[in-house]
Amino acid sequence: MRAKQLTDLSQLCIHTITTKPWSIEEAARNYSAEDVKGITVWRDALVNRDIKQTGKLLRDHGLKIVSLCRGGFFPNKEKEKRKLAIENNLKTIEEAADLGTQLIVLVCGADPAQSLEDSRMQIEDGIETILPQAKAAGIKLAIEPLHPMYADSRSAINTLAQANDMAEQINSPYVGVAVDVYHLWWDPFLEQEIKRCGENGHLFAFHICDWNSPTVDILLDRGLMGDGCIPINKIRSWVEATGFNGFYEVEIFSSKYWQQDQAQFLKKIIKAYKENS
Ligand code: ZN
Repeated sequence: MRAKQLTDLSQLCIHTITTKPWSIEEAARNYSAEDVKGITVWRDALVNRDIKQTGKLLRDHGLKIVSLCRGGFFPNKEKEKRKLAIENNLKTIEEAADLGTQLIVLVCGADPAQSLEDSRMQIEDGIETILPQAKAAGIKLAIEPLHPMYADSRSAINTLAQANDMAEQINSPYVGVAVDVYHLWWDPFLEQEIKRCGENGHLFAFHICDWNSPTVDILLDRGLMGDGCIPINKIRSWVEATGFNGFYEVEIFSSKYWQQDQAQFLKKIIKAYKENS
C-alpha cells in the first residue's frame, strides 16, 4: 500500500528544534512565509519569553501549535528527584496552557541505576500523578516510545506495544501515544500496533524524519526524509488507514543540517516532505 503523495502543506508541521539556529520568532516568520501550517514548540525555544504572547505571535502567523515538547523524564532511583520531575511536568502543563496547545509529548525517561521494569512503573506513576492537572487544563499527554538505543537514560518505553499497553492501562482520553518513524521503523509489529492505537483513539501525533546509514551520532544525526532507509510512505499509509488526519511533524536533530543556511534547509524540508514522505 502506498500513501498518496503530499502535494500541499496543509498537514506539514515543523518542530522548532529542526531549525534550532532560528529563534522562535524567526521560525514563525519563515515557516509562515513558506506556507507551513503547523509548529511544535520545544521548551528551550520559550526561554526568556512571555509564553502567552509567543503563542499569540505563532497564531498570528497562521500556525497551529500542534504540541509542546517535551514532558516526561519521570524515573529516578531517588524519590526526591522523582518529585522534582513531577514539579517540572506540572510547569510544562502550565506552559502548554499559556502557549495555547492541547498536547504535550512525553519523553518518558529511564534511570540506568535501576531496572527498566522499575523505570516503567515510575513512568506510569508519574503520568497518573500529573493527569488531573493535564485534564483540568484540557491538555493531552502523548507517550512517545524511543528507539531501544535510548533505553538506558532517555526512555524505558521502547516499542509502540509498550506505549499502547501503558495508555490502555491508564485508560484516559487524555493519554495516548506519539508515533515517531525514527524510533519505530524497525519494529515487526509496527503496522498492527499503529492499527491498535488508532482504533483506541490513542494515536495523538506522528513524527517523521529519516535514519541515516551509517548513523554517526545517536542523538544528532537524524536524516531528512529520503536521506536514509525508513519506509516513511508505507508507515504513513498505516497511520492514515486508522483515520488519522492530524499533522505530519518534521522532527530532525542534525548537527549537519544545523550548520547549513536554515532558509535553504527549510526549502529542502518542504521538497522532501512532498517527494519522500
Ligand atoms: Zn519524535
